[in-house]
Amino acid sequence: MYTTFDETNLDKIVTLLKSHQSKFLSGEKISQILQLSRAAVWKNIKILQSLGYKIESKPKTGYKLHSRSNLLLPWEISDGLQTDIIGRKIYYFNTIDSTQNFALRLSEWPHENGSVIIAKKQTRGRGRLNRKWVSPSGGIWLSVLLKPNFDSSHTSLFPMATSLALSIAIKKILKIDTQLKWPNDLTINDKKVAGILIDASIESNKIEYLIIGVGINFQVKPSAITRQIKNQNYGVATLVEKENNSQVKLVQQFLLELEHVYNQIMSGHVSNIQQKWIKRSSTIGKNITATTTTEVLRGKAIGIDKTGALLLSKDGKIQKLLAADISYKT
Ligand code: ADP
Repeated sequence: MYTTFDETNLDKIVTLLKSHQSKFLSGEKISQILQLSRAAVWKNIKILQSLGYKIESKPKTGYKLHSRSNLLLPWEISDGLQTDIIGRKIYYFNTIDSTQNFALRLSEWPHENGSVIIAKKQTRGRGRLNRKWVSPSGGIWLSVLLKPNFDSSHTSLFPMATSLALSIAIKKILKIDTQLKWPNDLTINDKKVAGILIDASIESNKIEYLIIGVGINFQVKPSAITRQIKNQNYGVATLVEKENNSQVKLVQQFLLELEHVYNQIMSGHVSNIQQKWIKRSSTIGKNITATTTTEVLRGKAIGIDKTGALLLSKDGKIQKLLAADISYKT
């Protein structure tokens, strides 16, 4: 595990090399500045190279950074991150069971409001209702832990607000349009490219914590994911097909957009989120089939209300859906 707050020398060396990008920096200089032995410098350089940093080393001259790693390493995410709360602490794992589960454990500790957990791979990624979320390397699998001080009625807004934040970030960084499928999916041509999962704990009507889980098929093979999915109701899409180095920027932008919608919810400005969500939604205006835990409903999706509930019109009556699986086949 790597974090933004453990005193590792890796991030310090990276910062030094970044500030000398056009020149070689001698091992001696690095060891003087960071009060490290030359052997320790060399060892850390080796680790950085294994993490994907292209660092040239020249005998008697020193080290030069040619390119950064594309991994979502915590010090790369925090370098240039513009948020106030989200991402104050970042945890990164090469492999983890589920970033949601780790966030759940962190929720018991103080000073973790805004913590972000990122993994390169998840072995037991979760979707809603304990469904499996396939999470190979190439995707972006992350959770954000929030300890908001407001009442529980706001919880149902988070799938809508988070999917909007992610869709805006994807558009800004990658110039790709995504559609929002109620309640929690981002799609491209009706194929799922990202999913959102909210775990919440509520005590005496106050939110104790919210864990926002996000799975983004950044650069994955859709066919390899489809093969591991049992209920193949939906297609799977990937955001990019070829090697791309905007993962870090995408995560930074997403965290910023998320903080923005979070602040809007905190200050009661929900209609702005609601309107923007509807604009990007593929659900509103469609005849749909909605499957809840108790029934199957058919009707026209005519809007969402200020709590994030879907409004379904059928035979002149309007029904509110708080949770359901929806399909555009009727
Ligand atoms: P839903 O799509 O019904 O809202 P979830 O958001 O909980 O359900 O996601 C779980 C479902 O998503 C799984 O049952 C599976 O069909 C599908 N799935 C799992 N992994 C991926 C992935 N990486 N990309 C796209 N779809 C996936």
